[in-house]
Amino acid sequence: MIDPSELNTRSEALRDEIVGHRRALHARPELAWKEIETSRYIEEKLRALGCVNVKRGFKGTGSGVVADIVGGAGPLVALRADIDALPLTEETGLPFASAVPGTMHACGHDGHAAMLLGAAKLLTEMKERLSGSVRLIFQPAEESGYDSGAEAMIAEGVLEGVAAIGGLHLWSPLPSGKLGWRRGACMASADIWKATVRGKGGHGSAPQETIDPTVAIAHIITMLQTIASRETDPRESVVVSIGRVEAGTAPNIIPESALLVGNVRTTSRRARETVEERIRGIIGGVSAALRCATTVQYDRVYPVNVNDDAALDALRAAAEAALGAENVEEMPIVMGSEDFSSYGEKVPSAFAMLGVGDAAKGTDRPHHSPRFDIDEDVLCRGAAVLAGFALTVMERAQR
Ligand SMILES: [Zn+2]
Ligand SMILES: [Zn+2]
Repeated sequence: MIDPSELNTRSEALRDEIVGHRRALHARPELAWKEIETSRYIEEKLRALGCVNVKRGFKGTGSGVVADIVGGAGPLVALRADIDALPLTEETGLPFASAVPGTMHACGHDGHAAMLLGAAKLLTEMKERLSGSVRLIFQPAEESGYDSGAEAMIAEGVLEGVAAIGGLHLWSPLPSGKLGWRRGACMASADIWKATVRGKGGHGSAPQETIDPTVAIAHIITMLQTIASRETDPRESVVVSIGRVEAGTAPNIIPESALLVGNVRTTSRRARETVEERIRGIIGGVSAALRCATTVQYDRVYPVNVNDDAALDALRAAAEAALGAENVEEMPIVMGSEDFSSYGEKVPSAFAMLGVGDAAKGTDRPHHSPRFDIDEDVLCRGAAVLAGFALTVMERAQR
């Protein structure tokens, strides 16, 4: 049994080192699947710590790092940080601001990587006493949507043998030093779809000679509103939005085809299935009723991020030890999405938000803003939470 206060003391001692990692990574941001220097930096630190099974480079790139800390017999616990930046020009004016025009760590992933490097050091220092092993996953391409880094790393085996996985997201809407958790679904799924409705074009004065796809999409748009209101459980949140509508070119032409593009957010795996099925059904059915043909392309982007009860309890216990029980609180579901959810589809997972919002420090600005910044004082605590999660899972497995 490792005393949580030991973890706190040790993590405090790493404060400057962890902040140093964050600033080094912040100054050299790299976009999804281009995190080569970031990954080299991380690899070098992990090798210096004596981590084993170090692998850098996934999906045929040099991006992404995985490494293990091997302790005693017991479960293998994975900890994950994402490492990619965003296509944005930084406007913080920080001395260590991005040196790369048009690229910025504006979501806090620099802090995620720094915290996980900190946790790696904490756990390495107590390796002889670990009743299990730790897998460190530094994941590329969280922000890219289509080309998810989590999916790619899972496909290359990073979850093999893993008993549970934990992760944190630094979160500016939450006050500094607080941890927000949620049982079950904690972040929404995100899917996008595109429907082409084909009729028969012709002269606007002779509708009887045509099959008008514009009228069909008008009905489809209205009918899709019944999914959230009539087809899904009112206790769950569902969003079906239509973001793009295209039909026609001139007042006197009935077009051949029309296009709808939309996105879907759900907060349960079941609702996600239902919504896709109903979108396809309504588009196909309404089109058929109006003699149109359709093709629907439905792309599942990120699953619902669902916390496993036991894994979440371990993360909460670690957070209470590192932050104080009064700073660990339940929070509402976040309707944004995260590809951490893909790990949760395979193994028990826990994900929570670690507050970095402090108006006095200017760290309460929204994620993805060019003036986004994080409260660095939180980073060593985050490292203690991550390390503590791994220790708690191991200790509970022994009982
Ligand atoms: Zn983001
Ligand atoms: Zn993020």
